[in-house]
Amino acid sequence: MNKYDVVIVGSGLGGLLCGYILSKEGYNVCILEKNKQIGGCLQTFKRDNCIFDTGIHYIGSLDEGQILYQYFKYFDLIGKLKLKKLDKDAFDVIYFDDNKVEYAYSMGYDNFIETLSKSFPNERQALIKYCDKLKEISNSLALYNLKEITSTFIETTYFKENAFEFIKSITSDIRLQNVLAGSNVLYAGVPEKTPLFIHAIVNASFIESSYRLVDGSQQLAKLLTDSIVKNNGIIRTNSKVTRLVCNNNEISFCELESTERIEAKYFISDIHPELTLDILENDILRKVYRNRVKSLENTMASFAIYISLKENTFKYLNRNHYFFSKNNVWTSVTYSIEEWPESYLLLTPATTKSEIYADSIIVMTYMKYEELKQWEHTTVENRGEEYIEFKRKKAEKLLDKIEIQFPDIRKHIKSYYTSTPLTYRDYTGTKNGSLYGILRDSDEPMKSFVSPRTKIPNLIFTGQNVILHGVLGVTIGAVLSCAEIVGLNHLIRKIKQA
Ligand SMILES: Cc1cc2nc3c(=O)[nH]c(=O)nc-3n(C[C@H](O)[C@H](O)[C@H](O)COP(=O)(O)OP(=O)(O)OC[C@H]3O[C@@H](n4cnc5c(N)ncnc54)[C@H](O)[C@@H]3O)c2cc1C
Repeated sequence: MNKYDVVIVGSGLGGLLCGYILSKEGYNVCILEKNKQIGGCLQTFKRDNCIFDTGIHYIGSLDEGQILYQYFKYFDLIGKLKLKKLDKDAFDVIYFDDNKVEYAYSMGYDNFIETLSKSFPNERQALIKYCDKLKEISNSLALYNLKEITSTFIETTYFKENAFEFIKSITSDIRLQNVLAGSNVLYAGVPEKTPLFIHAIVNASFIESSYRLVDGSQQLAKLLTDSIVKNNGIIRTNSKVTRLVCNNNEISFCELESTERIEAKYFISDIHPELTLDILENDILRKVYRNRVKSLENTMASFAIYISLKENTFKYLNRNHYFFSKNNVWTSVTYSIEEWPESYLLLTPATTKSEIYADSIIVMTYMKYEELKQWEHTTVENRGEEYIEFKRKKAEKLLDKIEIQFPDIRKHIKSYYTSTPLTYRDYTGTKNGSLYGILRDSDEPMKSFVSPRTKIPNLIFTGQNVILHGVLGVTIGAVLSCAEIVGLNHLIRKIKQA
C-alpha cells in the first residue's frame, strides 16, 4: 500500500494550494482527483477554439501591495499568470431594466465613491459609510492583513451582522441599496441570511483591484501543479476517493473506486463536508454532528450559456455586466420560474487573440436544482433528448433577455453551449450543483462556518466551505487548513517574506 505524509482529496484550488504549501514545507503529498482534468472550478473547456472558464471569471486584490498579490507571490504565481486588469472606472456595471440606467463600480475606494456619487449626488455620505465599513471589516480579518494570530478558527461579529440590513441602514434610497448589492451573484446572496462579512470581503477585494485571467483559469491549476510536482508532490487524476477508513479513532487509509488503498498521516478534504462525511467510515463522530452538517443549506445553483462568436464582430468588454429586470437584486432564492431569468452576469473572457474583439461570451444566471429533478439520476452526456430541449429553451429565454442590453447579440453567435446545476454537480462534486457550497447564515453564524479542524485528529477540511469561497477566500482557507499541520504564524511569516 502507498503511504504519504498527506493525502488531499480533490484538486480544486483549495486542494492545490494545500498541496503547494505542504510540499514546499517538505511533506510527502499526494492529491487525488476524481476527474480527468485538475482544478475543480478552475477547469476550462474548449469549443470552436474558444476557451471557456467554468468557475473563475475575475479575481480581486492583485495589485502590488494588495493581499492576494502577496499570497500569490508566496505561491510563485506573480509574473507567471497572464492577467488583464479590468476598467479602472467601471470594472462592474449594474444595469436595471425598469429605469434603463447603468451604474458603475470603480476601482479604489475614492474612485468608487466619486463615480457612484455622480449617479446619487445626495448619497455621498452613505457611500463613504459603506466604504468605511468594507475597510473596517477587511482590516479586522488578520489573514487579510497577514497579522499573526493564534487560532485557526475565525470568529468575528461581522458573521452575525446581515449584509442586506447593513446596506438598508446606511441609505433609504432603494436604488442605491440595490446598486451596492448588485454583484451579489458572486456569493449568491440571500437577504435574510448573507452575513455582512461575506459581502464585505468579496466587494472590498474587487474594489481594491479586479483582474481577468487571460486565456482561462486553468493556467492557475497548471502553475500550481508544476510547483507541486517540482516539490516531489504527486497529483493523480481519475482517482475518486470512495472511502476514508478509520482505525483507532484516526483515518488510516483511503480507498479509491478501483479499490486501491492509500495510507497517510494526514487527510485533507477539499470536497464538501457533507460529501466527506458520506465517505467517512467511523463511529467517533456523533450523530448530532453528522446531522448538523447534513442539515446545512447550500447556495443557489446556476445555468450558464457559453457563446462562441463570429470572428471580429463583437467588441471585447473590459468590464462585467450585471443585468436586473427590476429594482431588486436579491433574486437567488425568490426568482419566479415564469419570469426567469430576472438577472444575469455577462462577460467576455480576455484572450491573447485580440484586444479589440471578443471571441466568446459567458452569461450566468440562477437556476434551482429542483428544475432538474427528473434528470438527477443521469450522468454527463447521457441525460437524453428532453434534457437537451430543456436547455435549448432556457438558453433562448436567456438570449431574449440579453438582447435587451445587446440588441444584435444573436447575429454574432457562431454556436452556443450550456451548463446546468447537474453539470456542476457532476464536474466539481458540489452538492446539488450549488455555486459556492454552504450558505452562511448571519442568524446562525457558528453553525454555517466550518472549522478546518475536525473531531478526527488527522482529518482537516479545506476549500470554499471553510471560511469563504472564491479565490481569496479559498486561499485564506488553505492557509488555515495547513496551519493545523505546520503552525499558523510560521506560515504567515513565510508568506510575508515571499
Ligand atoms: C460559476 C462559478 C463562477 C465563479 N466565479 C468566481 C470568480 O469570478 N471569482 C472567484 O474568486 N471565485 C469564483 N467562483 C468561486 C470559486 O471558483 C470557488 O469558490 C473555488 O474555486 C472552489 O475551490 P475548492 O477548492 O473549494 O473546490 P472545487 O473547485 O469545488 O474542487 C473540488 C474538487 O474535488 C474533486 N472531488 C470531488 N469529490 C471527489 C472525490 N470523492 N475524490 C476525489 N476528488 C473529488 C472535484 O472533482 C473537484 O476537482 C465561482 C464559482 C462558480 C461555480
